[in-house]
Amino acid sequence: MYDAIIIGGGLGGLTVAIELARNKFTVLIIEKHAYPFHKVCGEYISNEVRPYLEHIGLDLAKLGASTINRFMLTSVRGTTLFSPLKMGGFGISRYTLDYELYKIAVNLGVHFELNASIEETQRINETFFVDTNTNKTFQSRILIGSYGKRAKVDRIIQRPIPKQQTSYMGIKYHISLDFPKDLIALHNFKGGYCGISAIEDDKLCLCYLSATANLKNKTGIKQMEEDILYQNPFLKEIFTKAEFLFKKPEVINEVVFVSKSKVHENIIMVGDSAGLITPLAGNGMSIAIKSGFMAAKLITEFLYDNINRAELEKLYISNWNTNFRNQLWRGRQLQKLFGKERTSEVAITLLNSLPALMPLVIRSTHGKILQYI
Ligand SMILES: Cc1cc2nc3c(=O)[nH]c(=O)nc-3n(C[C@H](O)[C@H](O)[C@H](O)COP(=O)(O)OP(=O)(O)OC[C@H]3O[C@@H](n4cnc5c(N)ncnc54)[C@H](O)[C@@H]3O)c2cc1C
Repeated sequence: MYDAIIIGGGLGGLTVAIELARNKFTVLIIEKHAYPFHKVCGEYISNEVRPYLEHIGLDLAKLGASTINRFMLTSVRGTTLFSPLKMGGFGISRYTLDYELYKIAVNLGVHFELNASIEETQRINETFFVDTNTNKTFQSRILIGSYGKRAKVDRIIQRPIPKQQTSYMGIKYHISLDFPKDLIALHNFKGGYCGISAIEDDKLCLCYLSATANLKNKTGIKQMEEDILYQNPFLKEIFTKAEFLFKKPEVINEVVFVSKSKVHENIIMVGDSAGLITPLAGNGMSIAIKSGFMAAKLITEFLYDNINRAELEKLYISNWNTNFRNQLWRGRQLQKLFGKERTSEVAITLLNSLPALMPLVIRSTHGKILQYI
């Protein structure tokens, strides 16, 4: 019997595991893949979590993370805005970052069931029973959902998720191209936007969110890119000049930004499982790490019998709302301006005429630096 079982070993799940293991609790992560592996993500991490990651043992400089402190935004037609990034961030691939955190977790004694996904969960009295497709059943006092944006687990645990009007997909490449290491650029196109920024080993991450409808009547992703993304002259230049380092892109469907429950049937949700901020904000990873840290602090109190389950859940929901609800809402409102020819043009023209506005907009979707003491 484990103190805690975590479904999904991304940034949220790994953070909960590391924090609980540091307090000598027994933890199991059930993860669908085996590390290291690629994941759809823009790979720009806000500095909100940099001190924390370094505190738990990540040597970001040694791993080759880029330092990013400038932002470029273009409209669908290519009108441009530059802004400094006050808090800034860094670029590192999820392949490297998640793998390094996995190694830290293993060293702390966290157990992993890899290449496994859950089939069923139930709680009998105070014990959770989790069945996996590896034909095993694990037991724990606490169950954490950190399976990211995927909907499959939501269906297994019968968690209702509100419908979203527009369906989105995410696509990622690693590329090689001459591009400033301190800059993150966000280029709008009809029905989406595409980010580009430096990661380790002189590579760049090129990642976009697109309305799934963009694929309609296209032979595939390539034709969609040529017909739709290339209308932005910056994207046309990037896509035609870059050397693509993957054989095929990483793709994820069913990306939803709707509000989700933070606790379902006593399962504590962290990271994207609790709610995904629109990628344009560039801090979904920070929110995953922060919510994982926050969950671990309260779960520690529960496992020490300082609070009961009802208090744990109430406090977690309340802390989550205080810390992240407004940021996610603002991200959703901002996304409405993006991916449309006219509104992206008007927004960038306005932001260019009021240079003090862009830093305020950026700040409104970001939080404070994670205080880990
Ligand atoms: C297109 C796009 C671009 C983005 N760009 C950025 C960016 O530049 N910066 C930023 O900060 N954020 C970005 N984000 C958001 C960021 O990727 C997420 O917020 C972050 O990865 C959330 O971490 P997580 O741990 O909640 O989920 P994840 O990192 O997705 O981890 C979930 C884990 O659960 C596993 N899993 C899933 N289902 C199961 C199952 N059934 N059983 C077992 N394991 C399972 C998965 O394999 C995965 O490892 C972007 C998102 C999108 C869609």
